[in-house]
Amino acid sequence: MRFVVAGGGVAGLAASLAVARAGHEAVVLERDRVHPGGPHDGAFDVERRGIPHYFQPHAFLPRGRRLLSDWAPDVLDTLLEAGADPQDLALKLRGPRQPGDEDLVYLWVRRPVIEWALRRAVAAEPAVEMLGGVRVTGLLSSDDGAARATGVTVDEGGPIRGDLVVDALGRYRCPGGWSRATGEATDSGAVYYCRYFRLADGVQHLDAPVLNPRGDLGYMGFNTFRGDNRTFAVILLVPAADHQLRMLRHEQAWRAACSQITPLDVMTSTDYGRPITGVMPMGGLMNVERTGDPRLAGIVAVGDAFCHTDPAFAYGLSFALAHAQALADASAEAPDADAIVERYRALAGPEARERHALACATDAARSLRWSGEPLQIGRRDSCYPLFSFVGALAAAPHDDAILRRTIRRIGLLDRTAVFDDDHALHERIETILGQLGKPSPAGPPREDLLARLSSDHAAASASV
Ligand SMILES: Cc1cc2nc3c(=O)[nH]c(=O)nc-3n(C[C@H](O)[C@H](O)[C@H](O)COP(=O)(O)OP(=O)(O)OC[C@H]3O[C@@H](n4cnc5c(N)ncnc54)[C@H](O)[C@@H]3O)c2cc1C
Repeated sequence: MRFVVAGGGVAGLAASLAVARAGHEAVVLERDRVHPGGPHDGAFDVERRGIPHYFQPHAFLPRGRRLLSDWAPDVLDTLLEAGADPQDLALKLRGPRQPGDEDLVYLWVRRPVIEWALRRAVAAEPAVEMLGGVRVTGLLSSDDGAARATGVTVDEGGPIRGDLVVDALGRYRCPGGWSRATGEATDSGAVYYCRYFRLADGVQHLDAPVLNPRGDLGYMGFNTFRGDNRTFAVILLVPAADHQLRMLRHEQAWRAACSQITPLDVMTSTDYGRPITGVMPMGGLMNVERTGDPRLAGIVAVGDAFCHTDPAFAYGLSFALAHAQALADASAEAPDADAIVERYRALAGPEARERHALACATDAARSLRWSGEPLQIGRRDSCYPLFSFVGALAAAPHDDAILRRTIRRIGLLDRTAVFDDDHALHERIETILGQLGKPSPAGPPREDLLARLSSDHAAASASV
């Protein structure tokens, strides 16, 4: 079987690799002039106009790392050799390890390095042809009038034909007349302002009770990511509706805000690290699932084209790998293209729908909280989406069972029902959070922060 893969981002690369390893042929068509080879840091010079979030923080959840280790161990090895940083959360357990704890590992690595490693693996696969600088312009339909895709048209050269078209074109625009299942876009409600740093010599990553430092000020939030080669990212998450806080796109305001928030004050100090990017804003972030019928036979969607969610959950890379695996499994089990599509949708659809629903519910709760709604995160009957995420993470360092279940839930290792149906666990979380009491705020109230940012801004303007 020959797969025509439209889009050579993470999902397109992973899908072509997985189907080739299942014994098929693939051709990958990527609009940007990407090429394999060279050292990993060359990936930062590649112009990726097709991926606006190319330099934004990325990391593999435990599920993604496990998928790599299961069916692309060579890619995992390449990433580790290139400086990817595994973080084993089982080290946070107080008691002995149990079977399954070996999966509680995040893999911190910047997005350009991830693509570089996948491209290298694809280039080494004889059954995959990778064509960079080729824009897909439309779908090719069968001559007999049947509603079936038989390949794609491209901007230069003749049409590319195959048995199955794989839509790996991502979350943004697709060519006119393209066929995708319908999907409603729900705004995540947040804009992200991120900056990457490299740790100063002799400095180690700041430890946090569970993952990396993160928090919420009640009107905005923050998160931090590790990266490969002693890099790290600091991300300010701001309500999309809060126009005054948009001044955080300015480097000086961003720095001033971080200096008011614990522990970002330390993490953005010159003793701790040196900035390696400017402040990178990212808005327009939606939750969309398109797992339904694409209304045309012969086409199947993977990665963001199938389902994408607020990057705060970091599902995308793991989903891209899971979709690739599902496509390879379906192609091994099913006799023809139609059966592969059906089987693929049965394998990948339920989890995508479940996580999309969870992302929408959690984003809605976060927006309510940021708008001043008095939600109690410590009680499951007040705001379950935040209780099961923020509340569970706060309780996790105090109880191994909570730690395991919570990381398995947010790390995509378990279906959501495993946590949701464990009422005894919920009780334990409530008890622990009751004992811990209300945490002290990590930063100033909104009006104080804005006053500080405005006075800094006025002082800077006066000195120019
Ligand atoms: C700010 C941000 C942060 C994120 N952080 C994380 C994270 O920490 N962890 C995580 O797991 N996920 C994260 N994600 C999600 C992750 O980036 C996506 O899920 C992932 O990129 C999906 O890959 P994809 O290949 O489906 O789409 P894309 O990466 O968008 O790739 C689509 C590809 O198609 C190409 N293309 C588009 N149109 C054409 C055309 N007409 N012809 C040929 N080629 C075309 C593009 O150039 C691109 O290469 C984040 C997303 C964002 C926005």
